[in-house]
Amino acid sequence: MLLLEALLAGLFGLLIGSFLNVCIYRWPRGLSVVRPRSFCTGCEKPIAWYDNVPVASYLLLRGKCRHCRAPIAWRYPLVEVLTAAAFFWFVWRFGASVGAAKYCVFSAILIALTFADLETRLLPDELTIGGALMGVVFAWFTPVVDSTVHLLALLAGFSAGQRTLSIAESLVAALVPAGILWLTGYLFEKIRHREGLGFGDVKMMAMMGAFLGTRGALFALVAGSLLGSIVGLAYIRITRKNASEYELPFGVFLGIGGMLAITVGGPMVEWYAGKL
Ligand SMILES: [Zn+2]
Repeated sequence: MLLLEALLAGLFGLLIGSFLNVCIYRWPRGLSVVRPRSFCTGCEKPIAWYDNVPVASYLLLRGKCRHCRAPIAWRYPLVEVLTAAAFFWFVWRFGASVGAAKYCVFSAILIALTFADLETRLLPDELTIGGALMGVVFAWFTPVVDSTVHLLALLAGFSAGQRTLSIAESLVAALVPAGILWLTGYLFEKIRHREGLGFGDVKMMAMMGAFLGTRGALFALVAGSLLGSIVGLAYIRITRKNASEYELPFGVFLGIGGMLAITVGGPMVEWYAGKL
């Protein structure tokens, strides 16, 4: 039964991934995701439904438009497969539940932001601000897996219901790690006199906090920053780009940090907390 549910979730993930591809292309360009129907970005001819089946059409068309033979970006099947894998995994792990739905939505938002940043260096508000709101709403229906606010409330002598604490955790986690990121960017700008970080990254961090809770969000921020520094430096070295002109797609690394937080992050945070 669980396997069947997870497989159905995976199939649904393929469809959602296909929709995310539309969002990744259109939102950064200020276009509607509802109209018009999908079209080839090469010849602008509408794409028939049989050429728009997730992954399968890409393989059958060998990655080229049926009409103009323009290459279809590998991002299309990749986003579909990644979303399907995430949906399968979370339903497999948590069963068909609100908790699983929350992590499916969160990973879909992360995947869309990661690829939008990679391609356009833009993080659309629909995903960052819209996503943050969804994270807070989910906190009402399923408790945020974090106890930071709960502990602070106990220390301060407050008591509150589980739902109130969950919403509070989501809000605090949306503000604090994003605030740290914003302050870092602000100081960098003051000291180096160039912009190191876009406000889109700060909004993305807020979205992640709303879903992850304080510790998970801080884990994602640290993991993403470390990964971004290592990969960014290696990239500049290898391609011999001018370091002062290269713009690192930091949202990509935040996205990977977020995925790590909901897969390997939990146990690592526990291990680290145990060492303190
Ligand atoms: Zn075409």
